[in-house]
Amino acid sequence: MQRTEAVVDLAAIRDNVARMKAGTPAELMAVVKADGYGHGLVPSARAAVEGGATWLGTAIVDEAVALRGAGLTVPLLSWLWTPGEADVARRALAADVDLSVSSLWQLETVTAAVRDSGVPARVHLKVDTGLSRNGSYVDDWPELVTAAAKAQSAGEVTVVGVWSHFAYADAPGHETIAKQLRAFGAAVDAAARAGVEPQLRHIANSAATLTLPEAHFDLVRPGIAVYGLSPVADQHGLTPAMTLRAAAAGVKRVRAGEGVSYGHEYTTTRDTTLVLVPLGYADGVPRHASNVGPVWVNGARFTVAGRVCMDQIVVDVGDLPVTPGDPVVLFGPGRDGEPTAQDWADAVGTIHYEIVTRIGPRVTRTYV
Ligand SMILES: *Cc1c(COP(=O)(O)O)cnc(C)c1O
Repeated sequence: MQRTEAVVDLAAIRDNVARMKAGTPAELMAVVKADGYGHGLVPSARAAVEGGATWLGTAIVDEAVALRGAGLTVPLLSWLWTPGEADVARRALAADVDLSVSSLWQLETVTAAVRDSGVPARVHLKVDTGLSRNGSYVDDWPELVTAAAKAQSAGEVTVVGVWSHFAYADAPGHETIAKQLRAFGAAVDAAARAGVEPQLRHIANSAATLTLPEAHFDLVRPGIAVYGLSPVADQHGLTPAMTLRAAAAGVKRVRAGEGVSYGHEYTTTRDTTLVLVPLGYADGVPRHASNVGPVWVNGARFTVAGRVCMDQIVVDVGDLPVTPGDPVVLFGPGRDGEPTAQDWADAVGTIHYEIVTRIGPRVTRTYV
């Protein structure tokens, strides 16, 4: 095996998408932003398309352009772009990437690019229904849809979608969900009154895809669930796609009473074996995992001994036989008893999204 590797099970990605697609009549956009949530942009995207994704979504335009460059032909949507990005709208147009538009300046940037290139742009108008993040505030929405209707009549844009995003979909039944759905319905109606009737209404992330059929509308946009991590308590039959592991870089017997790693926050309590693992916070292992991160060595579970360093961690395995080169698993699907990304998230007080997306570039992605 490699020194360090994130082994990505592409069949799991394909099957997770197929499972969600089977549960809805809507189209499915697999969200592959942030390098496919750390799993690798292009391989993840291809696996998702094999599983039935008819759209792909990324936050930034560069990733969508890269997908097009890699030969993916499905429709692509990107939703986070700034005025200073050189030629962002032109590059999107040239690669046939749909852009999200949340404001008048974004609409103007798109129409200016269209006037230069002569190619009408495909846009999805985003309304903020209560997340207060990206999206047009409801008070500004009538002005935006009116301007978009005008640009559409002028042949400058095609409004493909009206869309939004949930604040609390991972808490099924939360009062904000119904409120956001009502606000979304009102925004769709307001758009129609202005003359904008897009083919796609979409608001469902993974949690809503899995738990809220009434939010599926014409297209669902799961991200984390594509990679087999469930945002809700129920796993919904999903298979985690990533296993993070490293080859043991060193094994030594030490006496009781030895301080381990910076600051000696761990001390051996008996004669024991210490295993050196070549993964650290520069690779995305959270420093908060010091003394709490779960690690699986030769069939047994241990905990990171002492502080997580930039490049390495130490594991106290007692009398377990270990040889340099033996695989040490930080997390995987959990089938054989190894910890999961959820276990890591629980140990350090974060979410599994952050655990998988922060795996750094020094870690080889191996695809199986
Ligand atoms: C990240 C993202 C998603 C996917 O969210 P998950 O919780 O990973 O399913 C969907 N839509 C937008 C706008 C996003 O930013």
